[in-house]
Amino acid sequence: MSMKIRLLLLLVLTFVGGFGLGLAAVEPYQVIINGNPSKIQVQHDKDTVLVPLTLPVTGESAEWTVSLLRDDKSHKVDVKMSAASLKLRGVQDCYYCSGNGLCSNDYPAGSGHNYSGITEGSCNGTGRCYHCSGTGKL
Ligand SMILES: [Zn+2]
Ligand SMILES: [Zn+2]
Repeated sequence: MSMKIRLLLLLVLTFVGGFGLGLAAVEPYQVIINGNPSKIQVQHDKDTVLVPLTLPVTGESAEWTVSLLRDDKSHKVDVKMSAASLKLRGVQDCYYCSGNGLCSNDYPAGSGHNYSGITEGSCNGTGRCYHCSGTGKL
């Protein structure tokens, strides 16, 4: 009986130890997009952090400006992304999000997650409507 308990304890310790090591190896980076915290999970390739970003494509030609800044101290990646055409907008309420600026593809809206609890891609996990960049205006 006592042998069994010791074996179990050893197994538990191995599991906890392995889990701790795994966490230390992959230090999470918080992605901030246009000031909104995102649920995007970054990937690591040696010293490089890879950020998967989603860009909406419409029938019109769009030019995007994307700037990235990685802060190793606070473990954050600051992303600024904007489409040149969006600057001409801002006159009517956005009909994709009913003007509230929340991503309607999320569940619940604006959470950055989909129905399965996985990061929702169209808003890059920020929960902000990507049609109006969360402003509520088109
Ligand atoms: Zn979304
Ligand atoms: Zn919108």
